[in-house]
Amino acid sequence: MRLKDKTALITGGARGIGGTTAFLFAKEGAKVGILDIREEGLRKIKDQAKKKGIALRTFVGDVSKKDQIESIMQEFVQEFGRIDVLVNNAGIAISRPFLDKTVEDWKKTLEVNLIGIFVCSQAAARYMLEQKSGKIINISSIRGIDHCGREGIMDYSASKAAVISLTKTMAKELAPHVNVNTVAPGHTNTEMIKSLPEEIRKNMIEGSYLKRLAKPQEIAKAILFLASNDADFITGQLLLVDGGFSLK
Ligand code: NAD
Repeated sequence: MRLKDKTALITGGARGIGGTTAFLFAKEGAKVGILDIREEGLRKIKDQAKKKGIALRTFVGDVSKKDQIESIMQEFVQEFGRIDVLVNNAGIAISRPFLDKTVEDWKKTLEVNLIGIFVCSQAAARYMLEQKSGKIINISSIRGIDHCGREGIMDYSASKAAVISLTKTMAKELAPHVNVNTVAPGHTNTEMIKSLPEEIRKNMIEGSYLKRLAKPQEIAKAILFLASNDADFITGQLLLVDGGFSLK
């Protein structure tokens, strides 16, 4: 029970890495809220949780919309009493070759993947600083590592690189009471990857030294580590969970 008596809010928690993290956190004793833009997805995961005997509180919202996020954060704190952990997991990728990429693609991607993290973190940090404790975990990607950007998703890669930078600045500015760290997953077996052509999936597996995709649970466990008291002296750091992909 590494999160006993803790409260946690996970963005983009209706499925994939976020949903798996929500279940793991609840199993470890946390009171968990999940925020997602897809109401239907939230309904589904709430039903799944109920069947497993897990209570999840769901919030419909868009991470990039400041007003929505501030009122959700207020609701969360009123209901749970405090916010100990924020996992900024919501993310999107729009694949289009460089010459076809649009300014709208860029704006949408940066709005969700980067500004969304700023908006949610700012709203949570106000409470965390008052409590004099808190943990924020930002989800980047191996695509955000300097030499790992990928064709077609240059805007995604740039947003994920910026998340690593933002984490370090937030860690300085919110110290000494709030720890801020990044988890950068490698290719992970979620809907985001399942929808890609077989050839690309094959290359992803070949590119990893461990010769497979990550299971969402393997990413969730790294997030749990940084959210737990085991990581109390870690801040501003990047934890790569990529089966060695970034060694290339
Ligand atoms: P996913 O697409 O399965 O889940 C993402 C969730 O975010 C969805 O439920 C979606 O509805 C939600 N979301 C999207 N836009 C939102 C918004 N504006 N506001 C609130 N919620 C929103 O993705 P996943 O594979 O579970 O990825 C989770 C995170 O991990 C993302 O940040 C992604 O970039 C990152 N990541 C994934 C992989 C991978 O291989 N799957 C690799 C590296 C990094």
